Amino acid sequence: MPGNDLGALLNLRPVPSETDVFVIGGGPAGLAAALAARRSGFDVIVADRAPPLINKVCAEGLMPDGIAALRGIGVELGPEHGAPFRGIRFLDNELEAEASFPKNQKFGLGVRRTLLHRVLMERAEDGGVVMRWQSRVESLDPSGVKVDGRTVRCRWIIGADGFHPRVRRWSGLLPVWSSARRIGFRQHFRVRPWTDFVEVYWHNYCQAYVTPVGENEVCVAMITSAREVRLSDLPTVFPRLAKRLCGAEPTDSPRGAITMSVKLPTVTRGRVALVGDASGSVDAITGEGLALAFRQARFLATSLYAEDLRKYDAVHRQIGQRPRLMARLLLLMDGNTDLRRGALRTLAACPRIFGSLLAFHVGALWPH
Ligand SMILES: Cc1cc2nc3c(=O)[nH]c(=O)nc-3n(C[C@H](O)[C@H](O)[C@H](O)COP(=O)(O)OP(=O)(O)OC[C@H]3O[C@@H](n4cnc5c(N)ncnc54)[C@H](O)[C@@H]3O)c2cc1C
Repeated sequence: MPGNDLGALLNLRPVPSETDVFVIGGGPAGLAAALAARRSGFDVIVADRAPPLINKVCAEGLMPDGIAALRGIGVELGPEHGAPFRGIRFLDNELEAEASFPKNQKFGLGVRRTLLHRVLMERAEDGGVVMRWQSRVESLDPSGVKVDGRTVRCRWIIGADGFHPRVRRWSGLLPVWSSARRIGFRQHFRVRPWTDFVEVYWHNYCQAYVTPVGENEVCVAMITSAREVRLSDLPTVFPRLAKRLCGAEPTDSPRGAITMSVKLPTVTRGRVALVGDASGSVDAITGEGLALAFRQARFLATSLYAEDLRKYDAVHRQIGQRPRLMARLLLLMDGNTDLRRGALRTLAACPRIFGSLLAFHVGALWPH
């Protein structure tokens, strides 16, 4: 069913004039937070200004810790939802190093964003979450939120409105730190994946990520801090990858989005709590944005249940540390050829080091 029809169909359900929890933004973070809150017994409404299914620019790699976090809120993802991958491979010209996920974590999953959105929406619908699509939240007011010209009264407000968040601004929750902005481009190609690893091709100030997302499809994302670089430059910047993609038909048009790490001193104020990118993002180089959002969603529901958002604030800070640290470490290699090539040589020569770093990255060594 086309996205707009699906949105119209779902919008036929009347929106109550009051609820326990109102979630602003129905992306992965908002839907996960809604599901988790509903499982804690709250009545929940989600409003998103876009129609489903939402197709956000993303490299579409869900790390094993993200799969586990989703399982924790009742969403089971498996091979039928995409293409499992068993680790990460770094490539820089002739250099190559790879590591598999720890045994207890089994696999990550390449999953199309639209499919992920559909699965989360269906779970939310089955669970009794009221969803309102193409409904822009215009403001917060003393009793709740203003959406489509009317006020919905609520006890709690969750700001899940993504990378350009207005709820954050309305609540005065401003960032204290952000990394340099980078731009990411994403396009899908019809080709049988040649590996069950996510491949990361490195170049100065630019990486290309290849995530298998189906039996006959890969997602290619190129992320760069060089303003002039576009996806059409891929053959020049990454000739080895271009050779792999030679003859593969694109299945959609390239799309772009900004990525950067952003840190907030606090993500709650009064009855407002932020989740996902709205609560501070991590650079896409980590592939951890979704996993982080799903973990936050679960802890947020626990804190709502305990009527204590300070708990969420503290846990939020803690669970953001690891991906933010990894983003900084990985980005050190972005602009320093000698450091990057030296690191790749070491990782290739000592696969156990790479394995341990990957285990740390996905929370197998340090659960938060
Ligand atoms: C190039 C790139 C590659 C990436 N690759 C990966 C990856 O491989 N793996 C990974 O885990 N992460 C990746 N990420 C990060 C990941 O995409 C984000 O962390 C994730 O999308 C955050 O989800 P979210 O729900 O917080 O925000 P979003 O997905 O942006 O959702 C926010 C929603 O809020 C809605 N909204 C905004 N304002 C309003 C309003 N006023 N009223 C109603 N609705 C509103 C929007 O319509 C939107 O649907 C990547 C990011 C980029 C840029």
